[in-house]
Amino acid sequence: MVSIGAHVSVAGGLYKGIEKAVAIGAHTIQIFGSSPRQWTTRFPDQHSIDLYKDAIKKSKITSVYLHAPYLVNLGTFKDDHWNKSIKNLIDHLQIAKLINANGLIFHVGTISPPEKSRTLSLERAALGMKEVLKQVKGKTQLIMENSAGGSNKIGYSIEDLAAIFKKVKSSRVKICLDTAHALEAGLIESYSPPLIKKLFDEFDDKIGLEHLSVLHINDSKTPYNSHHDLHENIGKGHIGLEGFKNLAREKRVRNKPWILEVPGFDHVGPDKKNIELLNSCF
Ligand SMILES: [Zn+2]
Repeated sequence: MVSIGAHVSVAGGLYKGIEKAVAIGAHTIQIFGSSPRQWTTRFPDQHSIDLYKDAIKKSKITSVYLHAPYLVNLGTFKDDHWNKSIKNLIDHLQIAKLINANGLIFHVGTISPPEKSRTLSLERAALGMKEVLKQVKGKTQLIMENSAGGSNKIGYSIEDLAAIFKKVKSSRVKICLDTAHALEAGLIESYSPPLIKKLFDEFDDKIGLEHLSVLHINDSKTPYNSHHDLHENIGKGHIGLEGFKNLAREKRVRNKPWILEVPGFDHVGPDKKNIELLNSCF
């Protein structure tokens, strides 16, 4: 069963996200647990959680993911930023656990200052993740998302993700693969059947496809290897509808949750039209 969904806004309460998801036909969702642009975290109150749980029970939504704030950087050598990032991920993972979400997706970070070694930066990231997992027990996954690369980013290549994955050594560490970031980072030149096969063969070989928890399905406004992270509506960017059709034929990933983070045709986020376009690919 294919599970297509979207990032939805929870402005006005968590249950509002469910209403929005139902309205656009999403079967899986991603939300921000608290503000994505602030270090301070506001935990949802019990009433809000109850309303949300009730709404989700009545819906056909099968999985929920949280997305961490963009401020997080586990690769940095600046202790203050690193510690704040760990604390922030702990808070957001707590929220994910509170609302029974599958996991928390985050961008690993950058090498900062940039002259420091990549290997050591990856080690910092792994150390930070271990601490987060230690502080929040349970089953909730901690999910690394591949980035578009550039400006000393870590976690854009399969090698980087595999290195961190192996260092943390936890069954709760998973990967989210973003289709636009993979193209922008230079991991895949086009979503043609042989290159799709090659990408997931490499993923399977270095990490294992059972650890690919979820896909971010976005077209890309910028070309292959641009290192410029800009999402585009399905079929309107450098991946194209044909690319997503090819991806839908890849049996190893077609049953994972597919989550849209596109601008939307009315510029208010993922919409019904993008979901329908994706459905037409299967
Ligand atoms: Zn993404």
